[in-house]
Amino acid sequence: MSEDGGGTAVRYRADGGGSAVRYRADAVLPCDGSGRVFRPGRVDVVGDTVVAVGPEPDPVPDASSAGWPGSGWAEVRVRGLLLPGLVNTHCHSPMTLFRGTGENLPLDRWLGEVLWPREAHLTPEDVYWGMTLAVAELLRFGVTTTCEMYFFEDALADAVVASGSRAIVTGGFLRLPGHTPDPRWWERRLDAVVDLHARRHGEAGRLEIGFGPHAAYTVPMRVLAAVADVAVERDALFHIHVAETSGEVDSYRAEHGRSVPAALADAGVFEARTVAAHSVWLSDEDIALYRRHDVAVAHCPQSNAKLASGVAPLVTLLREGIRVGLGTDGPASNNDLDLWEEMRLAALLARLRDGDASALSAREAIELATRGGGAALGREDLGVLSPGSKADMVAMTMDDPAFVPLHEDSHLVEHLVWSASSRLVTDVWVGGRLVVEDGTCVTVDVAEASRQVEARSRRLAAV
Ligand SMILES: [Zn+2]
Repeated sequence: MSEDGGGTAVRYRADGGGSAVRYRADAVLPCDGSGRVFRPGRVDVVGDTVVAVGPEPDPVPDASSAGWPGSGWAEVRVRGLLLPGLVNTHCHSPMTLFRGTGENLPLDRWLGEVLWPREAHLTPEDVYWGMTLAVAELLRFGVTTTCEMYFFEDALADAVVASGSRAIVTGGFLRLPGHTPDPRWWERRLDAVVDLHARRHGEAGRLEIGFGPHAAYTVPMRVLAAVADVAVERDALFHIHVAETSGEVDSYRAEHGRSVPAALADAGVFEARTVAAHSVWLSDEDIALYRRHDVAVAHCPQSNAKLASGVAPLVTLLREGIRVGLGTDGPASNNDLDLWEEMRLAALLARLRDGDASALSAREAIELATRGGGAALGREDLGVLSPGSKADMVAMTMDDPAFVPLHEDSHLVEHLVWSASSRLVTDVWVGGRLVVEDGTCVTVDVAEASRQVEARSRRLAAV
């Protein structure tokens, strides 16, 4: 922590053991669906959990007053805005190793010709360092939770635990070029992810384990159904790409006579707690299936735009009551992990697609990036500051032209979405632990992670 008055957004005065902390901020945006802003506000945290959120008593209490929660509490003074950590609902973060690889190709050629042949040569150590560098980037942007689909899950989970982040790690199912012929390959893969769930689900209070089969066009339907059964037994998240490109949708229908959502529903896959990434090319019948089976969507507007995949029907999905969060997708197709960009682009594209300047409000946009993401992942305790939620928090300076003028509370939310950005994030906490201080990730050796990813990326590019 910085010294008081050192020009930082946060000051700290340790009054107790640190397990109970009152955060006092110029403004608190709880993102709890109420639209409330507390200016000034406070968030009380015990351990890794928020216990109270509200307006700051006026005058500010001292340790002996009735407004003070009690002795043994520490206090953090936030100069600026405090809001929940952002939730990234769809990512393949270790692909920092492939950033800038295969640019300007459409999805099918990028995967088949460039990415998958290189991923076939990955090692667990590659994934560890790729994830470590990604976590530093995510945390720096205030993204405290990420839902991952990848392989070498143990290495990925190791990086999350070591770097103080939070993740839902869904073990990937995808046969890459060069995998040896093995009739039991899918079964062995399922056994491995089941074992991962048994060993690591809940680890450090920051890891959740789920199942992440790639897509219906890459994984046999019998395997998807078997994976879904196992996920249902464990109430684990089932994470899959659906209807990302029109070509994928057309060829699946031509081959199987029905849409991917219809096939997944018929096979019982949607009985699992499902998050369907992308979901760009959905028919009205597909959306009705999502609603009936409570399938959530990870909306990835920037990845979809960069690969020219299309624009998902965000407003329709929300109107139909579908749970929607935002995803960056992997850093090889985006190419950063900045969810603030997704939030603004989602709102811009929704307005363009619908020809309606009121199609998605700033309040709806920030909720997509926070509480909506938590809800899409079935985690009501993430992306919100309310009693019982995880103490994953982001402090942003408001000492910036982006927040001027500020006449009323609604301006704060408008400015947050339309004129602010991740550059204003100063400090970040995950489960009450400080992970970014004054704009620097303090839980990752970023120089070492960068050096590792640079060297490993060069090796993989040469295969
Ligand atoms: Zn993806």
